[in-house]
Amino acid sequence: MRIGSAVTIDAEGLDALIATLASRGYETKGPVVRDGAILPGPVGGINDLPVGVRDVQSPGRYRLEHGEGDAVFSWAVGPGSWKAEFFPPSQELWTSTLEGDVVTSEAPVADVAPLAIVGARPCELAALAVLDRVLLDGAVTDPHYAARRVDAFIVAAECGSPASTCFCTSMGTGPATESDFDLALTELDDDDGHRFVVRVGTDRGAEILEYVPGSETTPRDMAARQAVLASATKAIDRRLETEGLAELLARNLDHPSWDDIAERCLSCGNCTLVCPTCFCSDVSDTTDLAGEVRRQRTWASCFDLDHSYIHGGPVRSSVSSRYRQWLTHKLSTWWDQFDSSGCVGCGRCIAWCPVGIDLTVEAAAIRASDGALRSSPASGRDGR
Ligand code: SF4
Ligand code: SF4
Repeated sequence: MRIGSAVTIDAEGLDALIATLASRGYETKGPVVRDGAILPGPVGGINDLPVGVRDVQSPGRYRLEHGEGDAVFSWAVGPGSWKAEFFPPSQELWTSTLEGDVVTSEAPVADVAPLAIVGARPCELAALAVLDRVLLDGAVTDPHYAARRVDAFIVAAECGSPASTCFCTSMGTGPATESDFDLALTELDDDDGHRFVVRVGTDRGAEILEYVPGSETTPRDMAARQAVLASATKAIDRRLETEGLAELLARNLDHPSWDDIAERCLSCGNCTLVCPTCFCSDVSDTTDLAGEVRRQRTWASCFDLDHSYIHGGPVRSSVSSRYRQWLTHKLSTWWDQFDSSGCVGCGRCIAWCPVGIDLTVEAAAIRASDGALRSSPASGRDGR
């Protein structure tokens, strides 16, 4: 096998792929059904994947439907992204102990098995690439993120069943993928049977595939793959107009839409918790009288009042200022910081917002009335 080549495997082949990865010492994880959602979890074979499960998503709504059929990737994305595998919600950064007069500090990086992800969506690969720019390739590498991320084996699953909340086509992140994977699956389930086209992205992907039964992908199967992707592309009708978007938001910081959104926004932070690219964190120390100190990093949200607390008060005390911070960072100032969008169009923040606030709709509303100003002038420390 060589990079760029493809084989077609059946369900047993996918089972063998997962088993081969496990036999090489990888911790194998993939999408599993848990707590009424599709979430990352341990997988030992194809039957651990969401067999016959579909998701139905819309603003403020997410449901699973259990149907017939063998398909395992007939859903879009669930609330849990792969971010948590590399940048966990809670992470111990260092500990310090006091014995006598001697202070000893340790900053252990967990020695865990390398991770193999089976079934990462193209938008999720794009999200990991965004996180890599921040946590791996930035000015300071996060050792915890790097320890898990660098050797991770990625089996992508191209998307044939987008949700109504998806807009990856606007962001250039799906439903197909051409990079950032070791192997890429496209599930086919038609008159020719249930099978997967597997494309090779790296040499180690090719090497693993040598142990998986399959046959060279025929032009007919490659055409079937293209048909699946074309159908998925056609099904995605949610749009985010990205032309000039960063500049649009930057010049509309006093637009009345921010107050309109704040009338609906609960400032719950759900959108930041489900977002595969949000990386804000908080650091806290726990001390005891015996002299032990533990420093912990936990996910934080720019919707928390405390998140912008500086020198006696929060910089963003209003909900409108916090939503504005979130959206303008994702779609505008992220470009200044990381030379990319902070949004990959996965649609999670739309489905998991309890009141169904949709960033594509809000951005379009601002575009439709570009330059509009609040009726009353901005006031207060955060300009509302
Ligand atoms: S902002 Fe929303 S649509 Fe964009 S990557 Fe985050 S969760 Fe997905
Ligand atoms: S936009 Fe929705 S999910 Fe985000 S903080 Fe507001 S109410 Fe919560």
